[in-house]
Amino acid sequence: MRIGDSWKAGSTNEWIESVNPYYNKPWARIPRGTKEDAEAAVEAAHAAFKGPWAQVSPADRGLLLYRLAELMAENAEYLADLEVRDTGKLRAEMLGNLRYLPRWYQYYGGLADKIEGTVTPIDKPGMFHYTTYEPLGVVTCIVPWNSPLLLTTMKLAALLAAGNTAVIKPSEFASTSLMAFAKLFEEAGFPAGVVNVVTGYGPELGEVLTHHPHVKRIAFTGGDSGGRAVATAAAQTFKRVSLELGGKSPNIVFADANQDAAVKGVVSGIFAATGQSCMAGSRLIIHRSIHDEFVQKLVDFVGTATLGDPNDSETNMGPVSNRPQLERVMAKIEAAKAEGANCIIGGKRGSTEACGDGLFVEPTIFTGVTNDMTIAREEVFGPVLTVIPFDTDEEAIELANDTLYGLAAALWTTSIERAVKMPKKLEAGTIWVNAYRVVSYLAPFGGVKASGVGRENGMEAIKEYLETKSVFLNGNPDVANPFVMG
Ligand code: NAD
Repeated sequence: MRIGDSWKAGSTNEWIESVNPYYNKPWARIPRGTKEDAEAAVEAAHAAFKGPWAQVSPADRGLLLYRLAELMAENAEYLADLEVRDTGKLRAEMLGNLRYLPRWYQYYGGLADKIEGTVTPIDKPGMFHYTTYEPLGVVTCIVPWNSPLLLTTMKLAALLAAGNTAVIKPSEFASTSLMAFAKLFEEAGFPAGVVNVVTGYGPELGEVLTHHPHVKRIAFTGGDSGGRAVATAAAQTFKRVSLELGGKSPNIVFADANQDAAVKGVVSGIFAATGQSCMAGSRLIIHRSIHDEFVQKLVDFVGTATLGDPNDSETNMGPVSNRPQLERVMAKIEAAKAEGANCIIGGKRGSTEACGDGLFVEPTIFTGVTNDMTIAREEVFGPVLTVIPFDTDEEAIELANDTLYGLAAALWTTSIERAVKMPKKLEAGTIWVNAYRVVSYLAPFGGVKASGVGRENGMEAIKEYLETKSVFLNGNPDVANPFVMG
């Protein structure tokens, strides 16, 4: 683990095996950090915040972030390789991510010296008023296993540009890329303690990372139950918190859609990353008049998807990332069958030769689904699509919004009228029209309802890591009536 200026095993010298889900074999071991280790990391981040990091000017913070971006680009292949081994996700996707992620550090590096306060035309005679934006202090970043570097970067670039320090807690299933990434901060010239990485189990480390008085903000990405635990802990000490949680996102296909493009959009929504994406378009909501034709096209397309080695450029879908997740996905598939949903493709473990001993699940599609079935309500986080027909635009919106979640939604239409009207009616943080699974460092990302609180990316995200200070200067020689508010 990276704590302050040193590399440490856990204080009890216990280790967690990291399993490569393609071979279904351990390939690395990571320290099982303890509460003492988490405490040391928070102390190191606090010392850096009060000490050397506070001495670095905003412009120089920006330059450090530019240097980090260069190092990340130089190490893209290596970092992508670690993520593929830990998660089983396609090398093509992880390398694509790694080549794009430096943009976040460049963008927020550019913003670091443009965090300007304001002068207020204050309505108090003889007074001058201004605001400044100040960093908060130590921020903990708690991230899941599906895209460790992407989901960390969406927090870290903005929080560092704003002048905070960080303790990162990767998932116990996928920590290695963040440990390797931590090395680059030293090389880039960041003072020790600005970025710390502790590894281990969430609830154990969370007792410190979400409670410690030096922690001023928690940036969490993960599932509902972890999110609830973090938000509850944050409430005890009134810490600021952002939660990027799960989803059950609707992908709505209207009768006037370009069907070939929409088929690809539906596939990218639910089968890319083997469905292990918070923004997965897991509910296809489709106009009844094209239901049969579209579903057939979808089955034909999905039927050609190649499961296998995530490092092979011919592979379309890698394994599920870890055994507990595999078991959850299979249990949800079995429950959907028992509930009466009609499994028209997949529904089983992947068993081709290329799947070997890997943790594969076939791409699975259920028709005959109603929106009240469990398979349409609960997040699967796997390659499982439910198909729900609609008759009118109003019904499509009603079905789309009839969910606890609100992370993303998409619609496929050639009607400009629908393209303009529908986004306003959909309850989700991100809406795509004739697209799916597009993310940019420039575009705010986050959920509504049970998909979370707060936004990452874009200009506004930097404010999530700043405190506004309001300063009144009294130019009057005296104080007016002291018993009445000024
Ligand atoms: P998870 O909630 O089990 O774990 C996420 C992280 O939280 C891990 O590092 C874990 O160790 C930690 N954690 C768990 N309990 C904790 C606690 N009590 N205190 C502190 N930390 C704790 O999620 P997961 O299974 O790793 O990831 C899958 C989930 O993440 C899915 O629900 C998915 O939708 C969600 N996700 C959301 C987004 C988004 O941006 N909205 C992105 C990716 C994944």
